[in-house]
Amino acid sequence: MTIREIEAKSILRKQKKIDSWFVCRYGMNLYRGCTHNCVYCDGRAEKYNVQGEFGEEVTVKTNAIEILERELDHRRKRIPLKKSFYMIGGGVGDSYQPAEEKYHLTRRVLEMMSERNLPVHMLTKSVLISRDLALLKEINQKSRAIVSFSLSSADDEVSAVFEPGVPSPSERLQTISRFKRGGISCGVYLMPVIPFVTDTPELMAQTVEKAVEAGVDFIVFGGMTLKQGRQEDTFLRALKDRYPEHYSKYRNLYVGRKWGEASRGYYQIIENRFNEIMRNSGVAKRLPLSLFGDIVDENDRIVVILEQLDYLLRLEGKKSSFGYAAYGLSRRQDRISESP
Ligand code: SF4
Repeated sequence: MTIREIEAKSILRKQKKIDSWFVCRYGMNLYRGCTHNCVYCDGRAEKYNVQGEFGEEVTVKTNAIEILERELDHRRKRIPLKKSFYMIGGGVGDSYQPAEEKYHLTRRVLEMMSERNLPVHMLTKSVLISRDLALLKEINQKSRAIVSFSLSSADDEVSAVFEPGVPSPSERLQTISRFKRGGISCGVYLMPVIPFVTDTPELMAQTVEKAVEAGVDFIVFGGMTLKQGRQEDTFLRALKDRYPEHYSKYRNLYVGRKWGEASRGYYQIIENRFNEIMRNSGVAKRLPLSLFGDIVDENDRIVVILEQLDYLLRLEGKKSSFGYAAYGLSRRQDRISESP
């Protein structure tokens, strides 16, 4: 692992509209690049400008704490920050990748969040998050913490091929149970499912079953994107090596798509499959209102609910205009309950 230390100019990523997948307006990447080195990782796509050999090198924002202190200081704000979860993780680097063992940036951010009574939503693939269990429990009691893990499937052997640098899905699921016993709400982001490998009805059903057994509060589903360049080359090399029988099938699946997305027809099939598998699970397919209703402002709460309804209706093959309504509401400055 090669580490590059830099001084960042900013840390807090602000979104104009609330993100209803994670229910956050603010996120941060304390590291750029990720030595977990998942072969399908979207973060290695050129558009994100992650420097160096992705998977081998990581950039550490050594002044992250100092910058974030300033960015969260309400006395410096003309417009106050909105109420929302702060998303720590995801993007172009896991916050609990090996470099965290040395730099403790994620831990120090959590300490800051605890001092300021801010709610957090963590997304990781690493069981190193267990180190911060006590701190996350403290945040959960004060302002709420949600811990989410991403899984492509519950199959440890498949994971060893595509996610060589992270603990096995079994270990991740055990860690979820541990956090649940600690009273913390947990989710699984079942993504990306890998076409022809982890998207089979049997493996998807098994993964959902194990996540439910671990006690998750929600399972959010998503297919894989494959952007031309580094991401596609790395992924197809691993696929050809371990699953040559599926290699040629990818040619038609990802042809000429601007954002690296697979064909709509394929996504429809796997979304229907997920929907059927989840039907009697008793687990939500998006963050439940009980986890965020008291955290975000009124307009944002309604935006998230509308977008969730839009997703759920479409999953059932129905038309919906709730997505448009959510977009319209997200652009309003006044509180909806105060409008004439
Ligand atoms: S853990 Fe996440 S950010 Fe890191 S390589 Fe894997 S998919 Fe990419």
